[in-house]
Formats: sequence, C-alpha cells, structure tokens
Amino acid sequence: MFDIQNIRKDFPILERTIYGKPLIYLDNGATTQKPRCVIEAMTEEYLNVNANVHRGVHYLSQQATELHEAARETVRQFINARTSSEIIFTRGTTESINLVASSFGQAFLRDGDEVILTQMEHHSNIVPWQLLQARTRIIIKVCPITDDGRLDIAALPALFSDRTRLVCCTYVSNVLGTVNPMADIIRLAHSREVPVLVDAAQAAPHLPIDVQQLDCDFLAFSGHKIYGPTGIGVLYGKERLLEQMPPYMGGGEMIARVSFEHTTYNALPYKFEAGTPDYVATTGLARALDYVSALGFPAIQAHEQALTSYTREQLLTIPGMRIFGPSDDAVISFLVGEIHHLDLGTLLDRLGIAVRTGHHCAEPLMQRLGIEGTVRASFALYNTTEEADALVAAIQRVRQMF
Ligand code: PMP
Repeated sequence: MFDIQNIRKDFPILERTIYGKPLIYLDNGATTQKPRCVIEAMTEEYLNVNANVHRGVHYLSQQATELHEAARETVRQFINARTSSEIIFTRGTTESINLVASSFGQAFLRDGDEVILTQMEHHSNIVPWQLLQARTRIIIKVCPITDDGRLDIAALPALFSDRTRLVCCTYVSNVLGTVNPMADIIRLAHSREVPVLVDAAQAAPHLPIDVQQLDCDFLAFSGHKIYGPTGIGVLYGKERLLEQMPPYMGGGEMIARVSFEHTTYNALPYKFEAGTPDYVATTGLARALDYVSALGFPAIQAHEQALTSYTREQLLTIPGMRIFGPSDDAVISFLVGEIHHLDLGTLLDRLGIAVRTGHHCAEPLMQRLGIEGTVRASFALYNTTEEADALVAAIQRVRQMF
C-alpha cells in the first residue's frame, strides 16, 4: 500500500510553513525534496568516512571508494545497464548531454552531418549541439509537435538522411508532460543505424527505465530531480560507443599514464570522470534510488498518474483555463484567462503554493505554442489530492482578484 501520510513524514521540509501557510510544493519538475535517509547518508559519510576515493591505501579512502563504487552499481541496477563501466557520474543531465555533444561530436560528426532534435527539448538538449556547430558545421533538424503537444511521429522518418548521425530526444517533456514513445523512436532510428540519446531528466523519477530493453545508446538524468542531492547526475552510454569516444575533460582519475610526451587514458567509466568526483553525492543518489525502488514504480506511477489526471480535471473547471500538452505524467502547464503567468505564480506563492512560471528552459517550444510562458504544477510521489484541491481553490481566488 502507498501510505502517503507516512511517506510525507520521510521528507522533513514538507512540514514547513510559508507565510504562515503549510508549504504546498508543486515545483518537483525543477527539483524534488529529499527524504531524511538521503540527508542522513550524506551527513554520515561526512561525519565518519570522508576521504578522497580511488588509489588511497588508507582505511577511510578505501571505505569511501567502496561506497562510491557501490553507488555506481546501484545506478546500474536502477536502469538495468549491462555493466557498471557504462555508468558515468556527471554533475547532472546538462553535463551528461554536453559530454556527448563534445565527445561523440569529436569522434563521429563531420561538417554536413545531421543531428535530429525535437521541438519540445529543454535548452540543455539544444544549446550543446549549437556549441558543437561552432566547431563542426553540423546540421540540426527538428521533429515538430502536434497541436495537442505530442511529437509528430509521422514527420520523423522524413527527417532522416544518409548524413543523420544521432537522434536526441526527451523521454518526458518538462513543460507538456508528454511521455514520448521512446522505444518506437529508438527502433525507427536503429532501423537506419542511427544511435539515440535519451534525456531522461523528467522520466527517471516517474517511470521505470531499462536501458537494455529500450536499447538507447545514451541516457542522461539528474540526481536532484529523483530525490537525490544536487550536483550529481548520470550518463549511461553503450560501451561500444564510449570506447570510441575521446575524453571530455582532462585531469586526475581519467588517465592511465602521463608524461609530457605521451598520455594514455584510464578504462571506462573513469576515462570520462576527470578530477575528484562528488563521492558524497553519489552515496546520496544511491540512497535516493533505493528509496524509490523500495516504494516501487507500479505504486509511484499509480499514485502520480491518478493525482495528475485528477488535478487536470479540476483545473479544467476553472473558467478561462488553458492547459498545454497532454499531462501524461506529473506535469501540468497552464494559463488562466489574461492573467500573466508571473502574477499568478507570485500570488500562488503568497498562499503557500510553490509552482514554476516562465519558459521552463524551452523557449523554442514556447515559440511553437505562441506564448511567452506558462504556470507549471509538477508532482512528486509525496503530493496529495488535498494539495491539488488547494491549488485549484487558490487559482479561483486569484481569478476573483483580477
Ligand atoms: N532536460 C529536461 C527535460 C529537464 O527538465 C531538465 C531540468 N529542468 C534538464 C534537462 C536539465 O537538468 P539539470 O539542470 O539537472 O542538468
């Protein structure tokens, strides 16, 4: 059973009040709150274990290394990667995608080669490809979306050519809540021998991911959006591709031997992990993934999807309500009448409700929708129908003020 009141007790911050009102935190798409077990695991490591990992002969260093490598194994199991050498720790989704753009770009992309993105990508899956364009004149093609906020899959096959080298696509839209048919997209790309990078920043917290079943070539997600700490994220990559890609950054950890004449690189995954890793954050991330796994995705999905569709129905009873996208999963973007998204967000905040407003780092999507921004309510496993009701009541109140 999914005991929401017990679950909420695991998240100390949910007891806070804001302007004297109970906090209603509906900004989980931006970042999630942390359960006590994550905070305690990291505190415990700082209090009792802290030492730099790898190559240390002393006890603490070995203990820290064991925790760090155990965390990698936890991530491997969480996404069912074949081997832990395919799990690269990064600072987050953004760094993971920049790593691929830079390193895969250097290895495989030449002037005139093509990369397919979609109209609903986050800036972090657009700008790294534009940065690459400054070095290699790749061509960026964009898969359009339909008016109801889904990928126009029918338009996808025509975007491929014999110069297509990579497809980069978000699994779940952080604005529209669309869950894209990732397995179909990957099958289509593979039928043309094109690898696929999956931005799983908004997918990892909400649906089970099996990279072998998906057969994706790269997959990125952030720890902080899945109840883990900030500053840590994951890049999964198929060993076969990672082996052929050059290092992203140079420094300690990523080398085998260094001389001024000739330097050789470390094996995977360390080749892509220059410098001291955030080994405390990896412990925190592993605890967060364990927490999610213990609850289980069947229960999490049932709860979040019921909550999302309930909230969507209730919101649609408000006159002037416009919802953007299908809100398949945990994200509802909307505007109400002529009220500016910023005004609505600010007034909701005064009532203790945290939502996000603006373009949500998806300006090309806003251009497609013909708007400047939206108000976005995004849910996590600890949100309740009472909170959804409070959101709807608060929007009604704001409407009356206008
Ligand atoms: N992709 C998507 C779909 C996102 O929602 C986000 C975060 N809003 C990112 C990428 C970037 O994640 P991060 O800032 O943690 O690197």
